[in-house]
Amino acid sequence: MNLDFSNPEPRDGARASFSARPIMQKTLKTSIGCTGVGLHSGSRVALKLHPAPADTGIIFRRIDLVGGGREIPARWCNVTDSRLCTVIADEHGVSVTTVEHLMAALYGMGIDNAVVEVNGPEVPAMDGSAWPFMFLMECAGLAELQVTRKAFRIRKSKSFTNGAKRVSLVPTQSDLRIDFEIDFRAAAIGRQHCSFSISAETFKSEISRARTFGLLSEVTALREAGLARGGSLENAIVVDGDRILNDDGLRHADEFVRHKVLDAIGDLYLCGHPIIGHFSGHCSSHGDTARLMRQVLADPSCWELVEVGDNMSESARVDSQPFAALA
Ligand SMILES: [Zn+2]
Repeated sequence: MNLDFSNPEPRDGARASFSARPIMQKTLKTSIGCTGVGLHSGSRVALKLHPAPADTGIIFRRIDLVGGGREIPARWCNVTDSRLCTVIADEHGVSVTTVEHLMAALYGMGIDNAVVEVNGPEVPAMDGSAWPFMFLMECAGLAELQVTRKAFRIRKSKSFTNGAKRVSLVPTQSDLRIDFEIDFRAAAIGRQHCSFSISAETFKSEISRARTFGLLSEVTALREAGLARGGSLENAIVVDGDRILNDDGLRHADEFVRHKVLDAIGDLYLCGHPIIGHFSGHCSSHGDTARLMRQVLADPSCWELVEVGDNMSESARVDSQPFAALA
């Protein structure tokens, strides 16, 4: 689709409403990498981020397997497990685990296209937040591509209730808004609520450094089940009743609920585009977000792809997109 943005004259249909300056897709300026330990596998993993052409999206590539270069697009259609973290896999069962914090960092940086190479089954946990990944991306720098950015705009409300857990997505004029509420019996967490309009600045200053967390009692049970093997006070907040076991305490008084916002952003980015909509989560988990997104994607009247400008309320609808690839 070619739009002449220099022409202020209205043209046909939805395209005519797009008077804002277009925002172009972005990728990394250069490749950059790090190593770390997988939160659940406990194995050491090298991660490398590479630039990618426009309309590639985010693609994970396992380079440790025979034949090499097994690629898994970071899309909802490839999500195979959402119980403890988000897992994507290809049709042969080759998977990458715990993609959500890196996906949140890519969202926060406004990166539309990148190839994420890993030499193991899990993204390294780093410090349990999105911050180390953002730092890497900032070191690599960003490059603008010559294709307009597209957003996934919610047109109709959808919600999903699972006992006391609730998630919903409703239309907004512009940007992604997230409300989240959690209520834990552990006194150190308790009831927390937050609400953010997710801009690049808000993500970086308010969300990106919030770490994953676990209850000491659950960590023991997870370890016995062969999970959380790489979890430590270096990459997670660990709570025991009213105590926080990390010597240096919390980064925000409500770091727990902010991390839930970070998780939601990473998961939502599996739709392949920034979202224009209002997400609310009440005591919900990765699995509830996954259920909601499957409902949204299954209903074509619920969403549309739009080209975005610097005033995101004035966006042009994109026609004839390959929607089936998203479902
Ligand atoms: Zn998380």
